Amino acid sequence: MQHSATDSILIHDRTFLRLIQHSAIQKKVRGLAEQINSDYKDRNIFFVAILNGSFMFAADLLKNIQIECRISFVKLASYKGTRSTGQLKAIFGLEESVFGQHVIIIEDIVDTGLTLTKMIEDLKSLGAQSIDTVSLLRKKPAREKGPEVKYVGFELEQEFVVGYGLDYDGLGRNLSDIYHT
Ligand code: 5GP
Repeated sequence: MQHSATDSILIHDRTFLRLIQHSAIQKKVRGLAEQINSDYKDRNIFFVAILNGSFMFAADLLKNIQIECRISFVKLASYKGTRSTGQLKAIFGLEESVFGQHVIIIEDIVDTGLTLTKMIEDLKSLGAQSIDTVSLLRKKPAREKGPEVKYVGFELEQEFVVGYGLDYDGLGRNLSDIYHT
């Protein structure tokens, strides 16, 4: 991976262009946290952050949350179902009970919305009292027919993005700006 002083970056074989600067991300994250602080002022929050991509966003968001909260980092693990219908996915790594809790899911990016839909289903079946979602980025397919995302940072079209926690084939998560193809 090559860093340069220009607005483009090379990761593996692909060139990406800078799309959102770190300062704009930070400003947006503070704004999202302010909305959450206001909407949840009378409730404790149980954040559920979806790994890997959301780790950086989750860290910055939590620094700006001023009400009592917990956070758990989870994955959606694929496993072979016993039925012949193929692969199922299940929530993995949730160490504390969400029963009766006000949950806010933290996503890095919602594309088709399938991941989020599955996560919401799982958290409902575990007895969460309420479930909202905050996503730093949302793409067009999810905007058109995905699950509701109450707090959205930036709306995108369908381009592939990397940086600020998001990877391209394992690389680029460390970048503080967001780049696109
Ligand atoms: P969905 O289930 O909404 O289609 O996809 C959500 C997941 O796909 C995200 O959590 C993320 O891991 C991955 N994803 C979707 N779009 C992008 C993208 O543009 N860049 C990267 N790095 N990951 C993406």
